[in-house]
Amino acid sequence: MAKDKISVFWFRRDLRINDNHGLLKALEGDYPVLPIFIFDENILDELEDELDARVSFIHQTLNNLQNQLSKRHKGLKVYYDTPESAWEKVLEEFNVQSVYTNRDYEPYAQSRDKNIYKLLKEKEIHFKGFKDHVIFEKDEILTQKGEPYSVFTPYSKNWKSSLTEHTFQHFKSEDNLENLYTINTNLPELSDIGFKESDISVPDYDLSDSLLKDYKQDRDYPAINGTSRLSPHLRFGTISVREVCRQAKEVSEPFLNEIIWRDFYSQVLYHHPKVATENFRKKYDAVEWRNNEKEFEKWCEGKTGFPIVDAGMRQLNQTGWMHNRLRMITASFLCKDLLIDWRWGEAYFGKKLLDYDLASNNGGWQWAAGTGTDAAPYFRIFNPESQLNKYDPDLKFVKKWIPEYGTEDYPDPIVDHKEARERALSVYKSAIN
Ligand code: FAD
Repeated sequence: MAKDKISVFWFRRDLRINDNHGLLKALEGDYPVLPIFIFDENILDELEDELDARVSFIHQTLNNLQNQLSKRHKGLKVYYDTPESAWEKVLEEFNVQSVYTNRDYEPYAQSRDKNIYKLLKEKEIHFKGFKDHVIFEKDEILTQKGEPYSVFTPYSKNWKSSLTEHTFQHFKSEDNLENLYTINTNLPELSDIGFKESDISVPDYDLSDSLLKDYKQDRDYPAINGTSRLSPHLRFGTISVREVCRQAKEVSEPFLNEIIWRDFYSQVLYHHPKVATENFRKKYDAVEWRNNEKEFEKWCEGKTGFPIVDAGMRQLNQTGWMHNRLRMITASFLCKDLLIDWRWGEAYFGKKLLDYDLASNNGGWQWAAGTGTDAAPYFRIFNPESQLNKYDPDLKFVKKWIPEYGTEDYPDPIVDHKEARERALSVYKSAIN
């Protein structure tokens, strides 16, 4: 019997039915659409913890999608394989006419997609990518000279002036689900892909008007729930970034600004994929990191004796999320006070963060280390004590995360901040001169 001609929609960073650009385009095409997801062995093999909370979250989200689809007698096909081998299987099993997806700008994703594009092209199957993960991508926001921006403020001005009435468009994929392919599918269990359910879960986000209105005044205080907690949802696409902007644009400019930072770092990584492993500013290659392993371990465990640093690291270790103010403080402490290579800290955040995103994490770390685009200058070194006094004056946050604070069980500071600051200044200065 001849197989039905179908299109495939490939879910990646966009795990939702609503307002999904590529999915809508697939559903508007000529053939019924089979949605697929690939648990990529290349990525999963790199994860050290079988309890990885991100894998649990993806698995739960796929289950939710499957439940929404099976009510309509539709289904999601999930593979556990390398992308190339999974695609060989898809093409063997189905009569695929075209493939739709939303673009991913990370270096690994770019080379993966190139390979899949070649594979599909050999079989004369179209591979169509759409913009969904960010508001502006690739070369949409360039300087007057036609170059990518490396400074945020002019980038954000250009970003804002490039908005049109269509920029935050709602792609109503959810209204076209009758065009999905009718199929019965079963999802693998977490254990089938070598993982177990994590105790850490992704919290709901808060995009209420009251949060957005108070965002500017509350966002820097870790003891207050003053930020949206959207980051893991934006990372995995359980909410559309256009929907976030539709809700935020009238209410909070400072909040919208953070979404612009997200776009900014995404285009930095797209245009300069080398930042994934190298300093954006070459002249900092000569910085002589101390890379003391014992101190690094203390930083990871939240036992440096600097309460604002330790509270942040413990929040990260226990919940998979850390407040932005503390990401800046802990990162500055690692790179400057301890003179440990930002790549060590970046990798540790990469293991722990539920919202881990190469572009934003790398951007944040290179900013803190002074090596990145639009980075904090090397002589800007956060003082952990004044940061504590300013942003957690009642020690509410510190006491929550460090129960032994104020007792003799709490460690003494592992460095003297004043001396560490002088040391950092001299190491950085001699590197760049
Ligand atoms: P909100 O303050 O509510 O902001 C809303 C959204 O805007 C966020 O969800 C996020 O998508 C975006 N955003 C906010 N601040 C930034 C920023 N500085 N850069 C880029 N996007 C931003 N963010 C990640 O999503 N993934 C990471 O891996 C990551 N690593 C970081 C590492 C360091 C060293 C630093 C300094 C920052 C990092 N950030 C990262 C940015 C920021 O800390 C988080 O996005 C934010 O804390 C998430 O909490 P929220 O959703 O409540 O943020």
